[in-house]
Amino acid sequence: MEHPMVKCSVANCQHWEDGNVCVADSIMIEITAHAHQKVGNHRDEASDSSETCCQTFEERPH
Ligand code: SF4
Repeated sequence: MEHPMVKCSVANCQHWEDGNVCVADSIMIEITAHAHQKVGNHRDEASDSSETCCQTFEERPH
C-alpha cells in the first residue's frame, strides 16, 4: 500500500520537512485524552479533529 502524503505544520518535529510534509514511515494518531498512553490495539472515538493528536511527534534536537 502506498503511503498517503501527510501534510503537517509542526516544524520542530524530527519527521517534518520543508513544504510542510511529514516523512515518517508511519504515524500513530490517538485521541488527545490518551496522548500519553502506550500504543495498543484499543479503539477510541473523537467527535472533532481537535480531539486527535500525533503520537509520532519527536522534538527536533536544537
Ligand atoms: S510525525 Fe506527526 S508531528 Fe511529526 S511531522 Fe509527522 S505528522 Fe507532523
